[in-house]
Amino acid sequence: MKVSVDLDTCDGNGVCMSICHEVFDVREDGLHLLQAEPSEELRQQLIGAQVSCPTQAITVKE
Ligand code: SF4
Repeated sequence: MKVSVDLDTCDGNGVCMSICHEVFDVREDGLHLLQAEPSEELRQQLIGAQVSCPTQAITVKE
């Protein structure tokens, strides 16, 4: 499973981090992707973050 974030689209509101802090970390300087290929156990949280992102900046593949 691969996750990516379009940083040009992300506005740093932190919604994704509240759903999956294992992968998304939003700091003062913006979003940091902690894992680009997270384990399968995080799939539900990642899909939740993807659909909840207000700017649709998150892509989850595979
Ligand atoms: S939820 Fe979307 S817009 Fe908000 S910080 Fe995460 S990736 Fe960026």
